[in-house]
Amino acid sequence: MSSIVYEYGRNLYINLTNRCPCACSFCIRLRGSGAGSADDLWLRREPSASEVLRELDARSPDEYGELVFCGYGEPFCALDALLEICRVLKGRGGLRIRVDTNGLGDLINGKPVAPLLRGLVDKVSVSLNAPDARRYDELCAPQYGQAAFPAILKFALECKEHVPEVIFTVVDVILPDEIKACAAVAAAVGVPLRVRKRIV
Ligand code: SF4
Repeated sequence: MSSIVYEYGRNLYINLTNRCPCACSFCIRLRGSGAGSADDLWLRREPSASEVLRELDARSPDEYGELVFCGYGEPFCALDALLEICRVLKGRGGLRIRVDTNGLGDLINGKPVAPLLRGLVDKVSVSLNAPDARRYDELCAPQYGQAAFPAILKFALECKEHVPEVIFTVVDVILPDEIKACAAVAAAVGVPLRVRKRIV
């Protein structure tokens, strides 16, 4: 049975959608069907906000370090459900919420997403993945072509205004010189960069 909520390390994850406008060469979805405690993250259909909340309530989310929107797709493809879940959870207080995103939410939804996260999301982790638009296009094949990369930088910059913590990540599948160039890009935006190991 496919999972909409799963555990990974100390955190609880939400698999909201399988939609994504990218086709990254290193995507975990190319090599398996699960992650963490979930064997199958391929959804038969997208869950509603209330279905996700019911699943979360069955697992005592307050006992985990963070609640993370990250699954087999881009969370901002299901923006309305994500915001609704955050509103309900933040209304109850306490829980720390993170979104792991490809940073393309503005292009996906046709509107700025960062202001909508204010008061609802504590941390946004944006996959930078590449030092420039050409390399991003090559590695991640976004449906927006080379317009994707500047949109990611703009989104991260705007998140700084609305979300307490913003980071960029890059997966260690690119060359060391490219990682250095990514660090320079991240520094120019004023966002810390974390180098992640490829999940195999
Ligand atoms: S953005 Fe994430 S989910 Fe989408 S293809 Fe890339 S790694 Fe996979």
